[in-house]
Amino acid sequence: MSKTKEMVEAAGQALVTNYRQPPLVLARGKGCELFDVEGKRYIDLYGGIAVSSLGHAHPRVVKALADHAPTLRHTSKLFFKDPGVRLAPRHTGLTTLTSGPTADGAPTLTRAFLCNSGTEAIEACLKLARRAAFLKGETRRTRFIAFHNAFHGRTLGALALTGTPKYWEGFGCDTQSVTHLPYGDLSAVRDELRQRPGETAAIFVEAVPGAGGVLPAPVSVLPGLRELSTADAALLIIDEVQTGIARTGAWFAFQREGIAPDAIALAKGLGGGVPIGAMLIREGLNEVLTPGSHGTTFGGNPLAAAAANAVLDVVEEEGLVARAETMGRELSQRLSALAARHPSLFEGERGVGLLRGLIMRKPFESRGMMAAARDRGVLLSAAGDQVVRFTPPLVITSALLEVARVALDLAAQTLSQKSELPKPNNPGPPVTAVTAR
Ligand SMILES: *Cc1c(COP(=O)(O)O)cnc(C)c1O
Repeated sequence: MSKTKEMVEAAGQALVTNYRQPPLVLARGKGCELFDVEGKRYIDLYGGIAVSSLGHAHPRVVKALADHAPTLRHTSKLFFKDPGVRLAPRHTGLTTLTSGPTADGAPTLTRAFLCNSGTEAIEACLKLARRAAFLKGETRRTRFIAFHNAFHGRTLGALALTGTPKYWEGFGCDTQSVTHLPYGDLSAVRDELRQRPGETAAIFVEAVPGAGGVLPAPVSVLPGLRELSTADAALLIIDEVQTGIARTGAWFAFQREGIAPDAIALAKGLGGGVPIGAMLIREGLNEVLTPGSHGTTFGGNPLAAAAANAVLDVVEEEGLVARAETMGRELSQRLSALAARHPSLFEGERGVGLLRGLIMRKPFESRGMMAAARDRGVLLSAAGDQVVRFTPPLVITSALLEVARVALDLAAQTLSQKSELPKPNNPGPPVTAVTAR
């Protein structure tokens, strides 16, 4: 039995089957390449879903982990610890605005709450918003506005914000507290705030909806939301879990729009592959989460914070913010060319920086393209049924993008040829949970 088969079978027997993994077992990574247990090489254009910002086994991240592993791995929240204390001012210090009405060179967000994941950072933001209102005596201000197809995480609070009803099914999650509106529809937001004055604790928005289809905001959305939320005294909270840490060609996507949010949620790219999340808040909100009101055992643990410090060092030193912009343009050009060569498969491409989507034309679906690409040695993720998502490491090179383009072109040819074959009348026996889901 092959190693892959053996491990896929073991996984099928022991792991909760809540994912739809292909029969592929990854063993190691180096730079922007991954290798499976059989030794086959893949180009990583999904970056662990926008997580592996510096690629795999980056020497600086490895060193940060190696330096800290033997000294201090865990202290809980009961004591300060060096890497987390150093991390907080570093990432808040990056939240300056260089354009827009409030651009004064000072950080817009000044304090950090460290946690372990994106959904936890969102959860902290939810609690922050409600309690801020509560402490002001505004007990009716408990509602949230979020947007259709937004993705904010899978805990019950973050899930209620997530604007995809199929994810709620059977979980009894409190979507009554959330009004979901069409993404970017400012007049719908205005109407909602007018109909329920003083009831909205916060508006949650992704600067560029990632999982919902990599749909860049029309230019006016974030400034419009800033204005509306300020007028109603609701908080504006930007989910930068996917867009933060240089992904869109700015440290944070909100900076591209020249507005200051009240809080942002970070995770994914921050730790370069090590689990860490953060809520960054503006001055004036620090009194909200008083001692004992919120916490986490693992949050800001030294190993993760040390990795995040290394990521910020390298992004700064290697100019990866600007690089995300230039490489994003290159990726965009290659994807446009690919789409133009296969117009029956692709409608086109869109995105910001190194967060891009290749849009499939029906009846083709993202899963089919992902599988064909995987067969040709390129790993991708999906942003819904119709969009293939590209979130490569920020250190991706032109050379690898070109190798990937050729592979994707072959994958596209295979996919369109397959579709021309006559459909079998008999779909065959149902596939088992283990093999092909
Ligand atoms: C991935 C993601 C989350 C959830 O983060 P987890 O670390 O998976 O909990 C939340 N919001 C956005 C925009 C994301 O992309």
